[in-house]
Amino acid sequence: ADHCFEYPAHPDEYDWSELYPILKQGEKRVEFLDVGCGYGGLLVTLSSMFPENLMLGLEIRVKVSDYVNDRIKALRLQHPDQYQNVAVLRTNAMKYLPNFFHKGQLQKMFFLYPDPHFKKAKHKWRIINKWLLSEYAYVLAEQGIVYTITDVKDLHEWMVTHLDEHPLFERIPEEQLKTDPIVEKLYESTEEGQKVTRNQGEKFLAVYRRVSDNGV
Ligand code: SAM
Repeated sequence: ADHCFEYPAHPDEYDWSELYPILKQGEKRVEFLDVGCGYGGLLVTLSSMFPENLMLGLEIRVKVSDYVNDRIKALRLQHPDQYQNVAVLRTNAMKYLPNFFHKGQLQKMFFLYPDPHFKKAKHKWRIINKWLLSEYAYVLAEQGIVYTITDVKDLHEWMVTHLDEHPLFERIPEEQLKTDPIVEKLYESTEEGQKVTRNQGEKFLAVYRRVSDNGV
């Protein structure tokens, strides 16, 4: 049940310095969000690629988010000048995003190997759907980017259908993705991505841009 999740009434009421201790409150805002970050492999990879950007992983499972927290703490101890820009928060990403993030705050959102919820009755638990996409569009900056990758073809098609149908998202053609250094990291950085590789599974990528509200 969700009654055990603490969440702020407003993004500014959250004590972000708890997650990013070297920052003064309000100095910087989270710009990259890894939704369902699992064991945190993407955060660890992107941390040094984008040292100026704050990144946050959201993870609903206690043990997994505790693991990521310990992992980041250990990395900060080993490399005192690094990994200050990454953190993890245990929450239900399907519920509280506008409590944590301002409108237009995020530059990038990641949905890497999300839980497939195969059964039709469980489709409402899929992390991408019509209603949630409007919430993601709210917290994303114009021109912000949504990255999705999965080994489940049916889920890939589901995500593509919903993103295609949403007026505030536009797919980025594969040709244009070649210049984005993040894209190649989506395949192998995370623990789930590595597992799919070990099992010789296929991977399906879809990347979208948050377009402007004008005229919608
Ligand atoms: N992205 C990671 C990776 O590629 O290794 C993890 C993939 S794993 C299959 C999906 C993760 O999403 C799980 O760790 C799960 O606990 C988390 N998750 C599922 N629903 C969530 C929600 N509503 N809010 C936050 N995390 C969620």
